[in-house]
Amino acid sequence: MTVYLHERDLPADVFAPGPIAVDTETMGLHPARDRLCLVQLADGQGDEHLVRFAPRDYAAPVLKAVLADPHRTKLYHFARFDLAVLKAYLGIDAGPVFCTKIASKLVRTYTDRHGLKDMLRETIGVDVSKAQQSSDWGAPVLSDAQKDYAASDVRFLHRAVAVLTERLAREGRTGLAQACFDFLPWRAELDLAGWAENDIFAHL
Ligand code: MN
Repeated sequence: MTVYLHERDLPADVFAPGPIAVDTETMGLHPARDRLCLVQLADGQGDEHLVRFAPRDYAAPVLKAVLADPHRTKLYHFARFDLAVLKAYLGIDAGPVFCTKIASKLVRTYTDRHGLKDMLRETIGVDVSKAQQSSDWGAPVLSDAQKDYAASDVRFLHRAVAVLTERLAREGRTGLAQACFDFLPWRAELDLAGWAENDIFAHL
């Protein structure tokens, strides 16, 4: 199990076929203000690949091809944010989508703890640290703790998806989940277009 750090783009052909777990680290929570610093990816075979960006250099043709590949499902935890950031900075729609936070909300209805840490602990019994969550992802050199934290955000998603997929089937909510996943790229577009705080489905 190795964490690879790449500057500006992925090397060609690093992933096995199949779904790819994806996460992003940014300078903050507002895509229009806070730049994309890092994209983390894993194919579930044991290694993680981190792609780091210099400011204003988002060419990354290999990474874009992987993220935009319509034949590869991308696994996220809270895809809404990652899809918006990837659209804003890389100009791509990074679907099709499986979002473990949406799936968690649809099956773990007995709790309101749907953060990555709680979801992973309950679905696959893994404890991940969130200690580096708020750190300077734009720093010229990332610390080993930052790299390991970033990699751990994609390391376990394939395993969690397997459990959540079974539970969605058990509760008869597979179709509902898929409809939500299919809408997520549009939800991200709404966020970027100015409807982030305003629920267009609400009465008022
Ligand atoms: Mn993360």
